[in-house]
This record gives sequence, structure tokens and C-alpha cells, in this order.
Amino acid sequence: MLKGLLPKSAFLGSVFIALFLLCNDKVLSQGVEKEVSVEENIPTKEPLTVKYIPSDINNAEKAFEQVTSLKIETQMQDRAFPNGGGSVEMLEVRGFHNGETIFFNLRWDDATKNERAITHAQFRDAVGLMFPLDIVTISPETPFSPRMGDRGKPVNIWHWKADWEKELHVAGGYEHMEDEYPDMFSDFDFNPNPIYFHKEAYESVPFMSGGIAGGSLLSQANRGRSVEDLNAVGFGTLTSQAHQDVKGKGTWSDGKWNVVVYRPLITSDKNDVQFIPGMRTFFNVAVWNGHEGDRNGQKSISIRWRPLEIERVEYQND
Ligand code: CA
Ligand code: CA
Repeated sequence: MLKGLLPKSAFLGSVFIALFLLCNDKVLSQGVEKEVSVEENIPTKEPLTVKYIPSDINNAEKAFEQVTSLKIETQMQDRAFPNGGGSVEMLEVRGFHNGETIFFNLRWDDATKNERAITHAQFRDAVGLMFPLDIVTISPETPFSPRMGDRGKPVNIWHWKADWEKELHVAGGYEHMEDEYPDMFSDFDFNPNPIYFHKEAYESVPFMSGGIAGGSLLSQANRGRSVEDLNAVGFGTLTSQAHQDVKGKGTWSDGKWNVVVYRPLITSDKNDVQFIPGMRTFFNVAVWNGHEGDRNGQKSISIRWRPLEIERVEYQND
């Protein structure tokens, strides 16, 4: 009796679960990732021109004053869970190159300077620039998600972080829990387990700090840069690169962030976008306001690609 019942129950149970999933497929998929609208696969018309100006990082501010900016409206990230953001409504972008290095300037209003992400529910301000990794055509017939790229259509993302910028300038190149809580009590100050008997644990990086042992840039002191070089092929695929090539410099004053990110036009990393003067590609932006709890998918974004034109250098026109 029992033998006959069990397979039947299992079969009916499977049918019930299959029907439930089928009926809820739309609801479930919408909750995780919504369908891309046609508009998102049509880049805007107005390009950002990256002008040729023979200047360097020390004179970048002066160079940026000579170029026209592109103002980009941003909105909350509403497509993939966990979503949110939208407190930043506009980002102003400028660009120039000197034949060797490409520089981008990003400016936006943010009343709060959030440059620490140490405690629970403490988040940093940040800004991201995204480029298709390859030369692409973007249209409704040849779609390319302006959000995080697509499977088979990778993007290169440059992510400037306010806390990494601060850590470039603090002693030891890293902020610790003690910097947020100067009077904190550490169990290790009164450790009942003598170091002598627990030498392996005390001296083992993998035991004491998995992040450092795993080579995570986030865990490293003196990382020497405030921008992380990343790749993605859609939501949930963001990956830090083994070869970091992008640098940045950000300042906050009077309720505004002013960030410069720069990189050689050409790198030897196959995971990097390559910029050749005279070429045309696309870019997109995202911005995070730590004060509003922005992190990861909770951010202000632009939902359309922007054309990017790299001006030819003078000798190319001869
Ligand atoms: Ca902020
Ligand atoms: Ca790289």
C-alpha cells in the first residue's frame, strides 16, 4: 500500500510544483530581472567628444575647461533586484586625451561626502563608467544592454570609489575598524589564548584574513588606485580584473563631487576596451550616493548608451 502511494504522491507533487512554477514564471522573472525596453537599445544621438589636448593629469582641470561637457540624466535602477537609487539626477561628463592617456571628468551634485564603508549600513559614494569591450553596433535589431552588458557582449567598467580615494591618503593606505571606533575594545587585547600556542592562527593570512589571502583589492592596503577595473556580461556577473589599469582622483567640495579617471589609450590587457584616436564607440554611467544607502544594484543610472568619439591627434590629420 505504502509502496504504491509514494511514487504517486511524488508524481502529483512534481506536477503541482511544475504548474506552480509555470503560472508564476512571469512573476518570478519580473521580480529578478525585467525585460529590456526597445528604447534602451537605441543610443542617444549627442556624442561626447574626447578632444585631443596635449596635457597631463597635473593640468587636467585646465584641459577640461576647454571641452564641451555632456549632461546625462540619471534615474533609479529599476530593472534588476536588488534595485533602488535615483537620488542623483544628473551627471556631467567631459573627456580629453593627449595621444597616450585618456581622461574623463565626472561631476555631480551630492550634499554628503561619504568616503568610508566600514560599519554596518555605511556606504560609499562612487561613480562608474562603462564601455563595450569590442567595437559594436547597437540597435533594436542588434541589442546590447546599457545596464551591465549581455551574455556574449562583455563590457569594461571603471568604478571610482570615494573610500579608496581616501585610503590613498591615509597612513598605511587602509582604514580600519579602529578609525571608525577609536575607543573600541578588541578581544585580542586580552586574549586568553597565548600567541605561543596559537602561532599558526596568528601568522596565517588565510586564517585571519580570507580577503587578503584571496587577493581581493578591497582587502589590500596600499592598492595605489581609487578606481577598480572590471568586466561584466550582464546582471550578477561583475568581475574584478587581474590586471588593473585605471587610476583616478576625486575631490568633494560645496556639495559636488569632481572625479577624474584616466588610463592609457591602449593597454596589453585583452579584457580592456582599447581607444584609438579617430574611433567611435559608446559609454554609459552609474552613480552611487552612500548617504542614501546606495550600493551594488541600488544606484542612479542612465538607461541609454551614449556615443563616444575619440578625436584624432594632430599628426593624423596631416
Ligand atoms: Ca553622498
Ligand atoms: Ca585591465
